[in-house]
Amino acid sequence: MEKLRYERPLIKRLDGNMPNKFGMRSDYTPKTHIEGVAVKDLIKQYGSPLFVISERQIRDNIRKARKAFETRYPRVQFAWSYKTNYLDAVCRTFHQEGSWAEVVSGFEYDKALHNGVEGSKIIFNGPDKSSADLEKAINNNSLIHIDHLDELYKIQELSKKQNKTARVAIRVNMDTGIYPMWDRFGFNYENGQAWTAINKIMQSETLELVGLHTHIGTFMLSPNAYATAAYKLAELARNIRLKYNHEINYIDMGGGFASHNTLKGAYLPGTDISPSINEFAEAITTALINSDFPQNKLPLLILETGRALIDDTAFLLGSVITNKRLSDGRRSTILDIGVNILFTSFWYDHKITPAQPFTQYTEDTVLYGPLCMNIDVVRENINLPLLNNGEHLVVHNVGAYNMTQWMQFITLRPRVVMIDTNHQEHVIRDNETLKSLLDLEHVPDHLTKFDL
Ligand SMILES: *Cc1c(COP(=O)(O)O)cnc(C)c1O
Repeated sequence: MEKLRYERPLIKRLDGNMPNKFGMRSDYTPKTHIEGVAVKDLIKQYGSPLFVISERQIRDNIRKARKAFETRYPRVQFAWSYKTNYLDAVCRTFHQEGSWAEVVSGFEYDKALHNGVEGSKIIFNGPDKSSADLEKAINNNSLIHIDHLDELYKIQELSKKQNKTARVAIRVNMDTGIYPMWDRFGFNYENGQAWTAINKIMQSETLELVGLHTHIGTFMLSPNAYATAAYKLAELARNIRLKYNHEINYIDMGGGFASHNTLKGAYLPGTDISPSINEFAEAITTALINSDFPQNKLPLLILETGRALIDDTAFLLGSVITNKRLSDGRRSTILDIGVNILFTSFWYDHKITPAQPFTQYTEDTVLYGPLCMNIDVVRENINLPLLNNGEHLVVHNVGAYNMTQWMQFITLRPRVVMIDTNHQEHVIRDNETLKSLLDLEHVPDHLTKFDL
């Protein structure tokens, strides 16, 4: 056995009312392997920091989610939310599992086409769709979810010009009992805007109302809010049937199911309080089945679930740069992982574990990133054993939004590796280099030379 490194003994005060005489449980096990591959080897081969994604976990998650809905409702379709993680390898894993694409910009739309998704299986959301984007979407028979009236008029004009029917739905926002309400996207249910938009579409000759869409929020902890939303959309569908004798094809409940991360300030960890996908499925499908859609005409149920399907599939591996005592005596540990690549550290207390065996003395520690910026705090307080320079640690549940919201700031973005179901590694995104950035820059002639 390897000789353990000497560690200075530490006297620690135990506060009262703790679970036992040793204080709060803080006995982690190290996360030494991901999908059977050693963290140490991954870092050695691909560098530190490094994102690692498990293909097996993605497939497990989407299969479990499909099963939760398909066992409760006859017609279900998932659409992968590109903005949650739009690395091609990730999107294509979801497409192989039968998911359509859900996009919120022209860029994401083109990425879905590039991945080989048929236009008719792309759902086009978002408040900013250019005329060129819309023309393309109309031409490709995509499902265009209208956000506001100017967009509605633009689609009407373009579809007339192209002499082609546009397949549209409206995004509906509503009071589901969750506040603050997300009322900036789409048309409001309670004040009648949604019904006005529906009437305008139904009067148009070139717009075909194929569905109703809502996306009530993100990291939602209440299945009941989805039941309320589903009832309200079903109510709109009923009014459409009564007034126009028109059946919509689908109800799209958006995304937003909470993952198992722990929100900052939450009393209990996410693993204890986030509802399971079964609970969301039960709430939504019960509401739809109990509403008055004709028995053989239940609409297709579309789900745009993002974070709940991808968060726990990815890890961020990093290394310790150094330890320092702060002026108040607290230990701080400086990592090569910063908020530039771990954007979600602003709202989650991520689970972070050492990647190698460690001694059982733990201490409250501040985790800083490598940026020369005061805001670069990965965790204000976490109980960890001493981690020495060059040792590794693993940040869990980083699959959602980090690989899309990361920023190129001060330093370059790292590689992303996917481990496939046979434990083989694949680099699915290269690290940035000086060249990849310089390729975008241009220096005017008069600035090419200087003399210092
Ligand atoms: C972001 C987004 C999603 C995915 O949301 P998650 O919280 O990641 O599940 C789905 N639909 C729309 C319209 C979105 O904007």
